[in-house]
Amino acid sequence: MIILAKLKRTFLSSPHMSGNEQKYIQEAFDLNWIAPLGNNVNGLEKDIAEYNSIRDAAVVTSGTAAIHLALRLLNVEEMDTVFCSSLTFVASANPILYQGATPVLIDSEMDTWNMSPQALERALREAKEEGHLPKAVIIVNLYGQSAKMNELIELCNRYDVPVIEDAAESLGSTYKGQKSGTFGKFGVYSFNGNKIITTSGGGALVSDEEEALKKARFLSTQARDQAVHYQHSEIGYNYRMSNIVAGIGRGQMEVLDERVSQKRAVFDRYFEAFGNVEGIEFQPELEDTMSNRWLTALTIDPEVTGVSRHEVIEKLNEENIEARPVWKPMHLQPLFDGVTYYPHEEGNSIADYLFEYGLCLPSGTNMTVEDQDRVIKLITNMITGEY
Ligand SMILES: *Cc1c(COP(=O)(O)O)cnc(C)c1O
Repeated sequence: MIILAKLKRTFLSSPHMSGNEQKYIQEAFDLNWIAPLGNNVNGLEKDIAEYNSIRDAAVVTSGTAAIHLALRLLNVEEMDTVFCSSLTFVASANPILYQGATPVLIDSEMDTWNMSPQALERALREAKEEGHLPKAVIIVNLYGQSAKMNELIELCNRYDVPVIEDAAESLGSTYKGQKSGTFGKFGVYSFNGNKIITTSGGGALVSDEEEALKKARFLSTQARDQAVHYQHSEIGYNYRMSNIVAGIGRGQMEVLDERVSQKRAVFDRYFEAFGNVEGIEFQPELEDTMSNRWLTALTIDPEVTGVSRHEVIEKLNEENIEARPVWKPMHLQPLFDGVTYYPHEEGNSIADYLFEYGLCLPSGTNMTVEDQDRVIKLITNMITGEY
């Protein structure tokens, strides 16, 4: 049994089906809607819009595709700049490059680990002075925690710049009672295999502007003009979600709230174990917000704990347990070499600090309490020097 336990890898976050997914897939087969349209596509769009109390949702092949479509809808093109959180997964920023536009990267602040209003204010003020405001600001909600939306949206409104909320990691989270992903002109969710719910791969673009989402559906199906022959006047994409994949999504939406509770329970157990350990700080949950705690993330100070982030990852990996550093910020990526970066304040980059000390612990909703106790014990032993 012990050998079996060792063979089974514990992942950061792995797919966790509800059991109803196959029912929806079977329906698609029964009706022969094996296409990027059908009941499941329509049903999933309705489920997502209702769950988030937003007017409309368009489901697509990935969260990345949804961000790309949002940029297209905002007419981002060459010569334009787009501001984006630096501390994120590359998928937030890649679509800026697809459009040939220039990213400007914005640092985080410590209260949420997300976009710093202070840095954004500087960036917007300077852009205005140069007469070159960005076409959009992409705000990311890292590991499920909402950014300081009030402050950030207020700034963007002041300069009349539209917001795309990258809620790929924060589906099910709330900010002042309102669902994450519904604060900007556009919101984006991801159903990639590691996200809180998954369709094996997929995403959604949400908005209160139904006309814009109609256009998104048009662009995501090769931008075909109204004509019996195939006629095209602008660039389109093959981004529409398949009806089979959408069936998985419908089964997953049924358990989203349950998954949020499970993720939060995982966090609570880690917090109980390490919340009082000097040198360990968990990603905070801002007052009046609720994080889905997609991944439990913390910083570990080796000078205080005697253990580095790297050592923890190595040790867990030896035991077939996946742990990872916090995302490597975009301004430190070779891909974004030379791109303008606005730190939280001059000489103080929060994203650099979080990347150096930050650690994501395995946070799967299908992880057993025993699995988690093993992780906790291994780390505790390292800190107390008993290994
Ligand atoms: C996962 C993720 C995305 C992209 O989603 P895909 O569905 O994998 O394309 C975008 N932004 C962030 C912050 C993510 O974590």
